[in-house]
Amino acid sequence: MNLIERRKRLLGRHVTTFYDDPFAPVRGEGVWLFDADGRRYLDCYNNVPHVGHCHPRVVDAIARQAATLNVHTRYVHDGVVEYGERLTAKFGHGLASLIMVNSGSEANDVALRMAQAVTGKTGIIGTDNTYHGNTAAVSQLNATKVPVGGYGDHVRQVPAPDNLHPVGGSRAEQAEAFCAGIETAIAELEASGHGVGALIICPYFANEGFPTLERGFLDRAIAAVRKAGGLIISDEVQPGFGRLGSHWWGHERLDFAPDIVTLGKPMANGHPVAAVVTRPEVLEAFQDVFKYFNTFGGNPVSAAAAMATLEVIEDEKLVKNARDVGAYALEQLQGLSGKYDVIADVRGAGLFFGVELMQGDEPASDLALRMVNEMRQRGVLLSTVGRFDNALKIRPPCVFSRQNTDLLVSVMDDAFAAVLK
Ligand code: PMP
Repeated sequence: MNLIERRKRLLGRHVTTFYDDPFAPVRGEGVWLFDADGRRYLDCYNNVPHVGHCHPRVVDAIARQAATLNVHTRYVHDGVVEYGERLTAKFGHGLASLIMVNSGSEANDVALRMAQAVTGKTGIIGTDNTYHGNTAAVSQLNATKVPVGGYGDHVRQVPAPDNLHPVGGSRAEQAEAFCAGIETAIAELEASGHGVGALIICPYFANEGFPTLERGFLDRAIAAVRKAGGLIISDEVQPGFGRLGSHWWGHERLDFAPDIVTLGKPMANGHPVAAVVTRPEVLEAFQDVFKYFNTFGGNPVSAAAAMATLEVIEDEKLVKNARDVGAYALEQLQGLSGKYDVIADVRGAGLFFGVELMQGDEPASDLALRMVNEMRQRGVLLSTVGRFDNALKIRPPCVFSRQNTDLLVSVMDDAFAAVLK
């Protein structure tokens, strides 16, 4: 039995293989993944290896700490404290405390309970096209799979912003229309007795298809949530750590002040590390209400991996790289959009960008999928995103270069020519 069949039998047949022709890398380095035949693939998809696959400084930090000490988190160790101080120094708005956890799902689960502890209310508002993780509580927010028994009465999903199908009918009216959705949700949660505990939002609307939003887009919606007594949770599992190029954090780019920020994926370059960053009084309220302990969260090896990743982001100036290379990539993709009518929109920020495909008025979902498979055959890895999965999502390690961009765009050009002929 081959590896794919064994994997299916063991891990379940719904575990994705991503491509028609499943991809099985055996080694990674920088922006490259290599298969068993030694063929290299340009990784334009993976945000977890934020500073590049197998970055030697992160590998070395993990190896050295693992060879020295790794224990549960009840013992005192300087690693988590030094990392936490260094990380929280990058936040404003009084966000000076943190809990280290092991996944973005856990971080969001804790964040929701923090909001409950502070507000005494259970209502949660998210968007209708999102994903925030896989715990029982957090999966209540996932738009694509309805939980058994339906969504809880404490959950409200508001229409997500979108470029080609904006809420309220036009981009100009979108912020107001989004806020109207939030106000309806608030009224319903108050009427049902849940009240508003939190608005949880990705400040880049990454899973929603990263619509182009102006600074201040969320201001009115946030004011409405605050007026109802709710907290603002900024889920930065995807846009955090400088990927957007202009700032370290997504909430800085939209210019709002969250009460809680959740972090994950890129935080330790692939080692399972995540965090919840908040104000000291929110952490205090949480610890008063919930007895919370996390065996692995912030253990010495995790802290070392996260610290090394943070240092590489700084030392290699990867936020600036994301900004410069991202801007160049958008320019190049705009050029391509003149050549292919199916490209209806080119958008993004930093090293998180893509193109949305339409055939007339119809989202070109099948074409997008064919493009992903065609690109994979041609040695470039990317994926799709958006309500109709008709946008190509490009989100490479932040060491991605102009030269890498040129390769991506020329392969995309060839792939479009092939799938459209
Ligand atoms: N929040 C967002 C916005 C995500 O995209 C994801 C994962 N795709 C998560 C949370 C969950 O993170 P994890 O898979 O590490 O639990």
